[in-house]
Parts: sequence; structure tokens; C-alpha cells
Amino acid sequence: MSRYTGPSCKKCKKVGQKMFLKGTKCHTNCLVDRAQKAEKEKRFSGKRPNKVSDYGKHLREKQIARLTAQVTEAQFKRFFVKASKDKGQTGSALLRFLEVRLDNIVRRLGYAVSLKAARQLVNHGHINVNGRCLSIPSAMLKPGDEVSINAGTAETVLVKQGLEHAEKASYRPSFLSWDAGAKKGKLVRWPDRAESSISADEQLIVEFYSK
Ligand code: ZN
Repeated sequence: MSRYTGPSCKKCKKVGQKMFLKGTKCHTNCLVDRAQKAEKEKRFSGKRPNKVSDYGKHLREKQIARLTAQVTEAQFKRFFVKASKDKGQTGSALLRFLEVRLDNIVRRLGYAVSLKAARQLVNHGHINVNGRCLSIPSAMLKPGDEVSINAGTAETVLVKQGLEHAEKASYRPSFLSWDAGAKKGKLVRWPDRAESSISADEQLIVEFYSK
């Protein structure tokens, strides 16, 4: 399986947008800031910015969505194919499906502060869906699904920190409900477009795949 292990913010720089792959690093120390500064200086010195082709624009949006979701090309394509069979608009279905991936829900519930950490919790079997262990980060949840964490894991420093942070920042979106006593969450409905973690133009993604 191909897994990128280099500096996360190199990817931000590539697409020219902060994707918060590590949760917080992009706030303070993202390569995008440096690249934008360099770009400004370049313009100031009278040089023209590089032209981006139509293909490049479509590709960029697809990459933003794929990298933010941290799925492989093949997985992303599978989500797309599933979305294209949906009754609604393909683009919004795609973002909806990416949003309800187990790893992302684990992050949004606050068990982990970044998607990377969330995936690790899932991969290592710490997360349960409807009372049964589910260790597939890209598994798609559906409304009504209940997510919980193993009791021992809930007491670890990292998870406690994540939950505290989620509490303080009122971090949880309204498509999730949260039982603070049991440290359990539930997907109560499909997320709206505005609630998506992915800031990419879904229409351009659809065009990317329809060529
Ligand atoms: Zn970054």
C-alpha cells in the first residue's frame, strides 16, 4: 500500500492550500505561507505567475479532496464511483461519503486531533461501531451508527487531550450527537455540504473524472 510519509505541508504547498493534515501544524508553520510570500515577491519583481491549465485546475481540486481525506487514488476513485450512482448530485454525494468515513468521524468526535491519529486508533482496533470493533479507516458510516472507544483507550493521555480540545472548541458538528458520560458518539444524519471538512470545488472534481 502506498503511504506518504514525508512532510505533510509539502502537500499543502503543492496544491496551494492548507489542509491541516497534522491537525495544527498548518496554523503556525505551513509551507503554503512561505510559498505565497515567494509568489508575491515574484509578482512584485514583474515576473508573471505560472499559467494553470484547465486540466491543472480540475486536478488540483481532486488532489485537495483526496489529500484532505488522506485516501489513496484507488480508494478515492471508489468513493467517486459510489457517488456517481447516488440519486443526488455526484459532487455533493462524494463529499458526503468522504465525510462519513470512520477515521474522519473519529476525528470529528474528538477522539483524535488529526486524521492521522484517528486512523491509528481505528487501525489498531480501539474503535467500535454499533458495539463491534471496526478497524477499517475508510469504512463508510450511515445515519444511526454509533461510535465508541475501548474503555482503556479512552483513558490515554492523547485521547483525553483530544476530547478536552473538542469540548473547549465546541468542535463537534451537528450531524453528530455526543454522550459525554459514555464517551460515545452517533451519526444522526448525513452531513450537509457546508459541514464538509473538505474545501474543494466538487464540481471541478466531477469534471476531472468525466473527461
Ligand atoms: Zn500545511
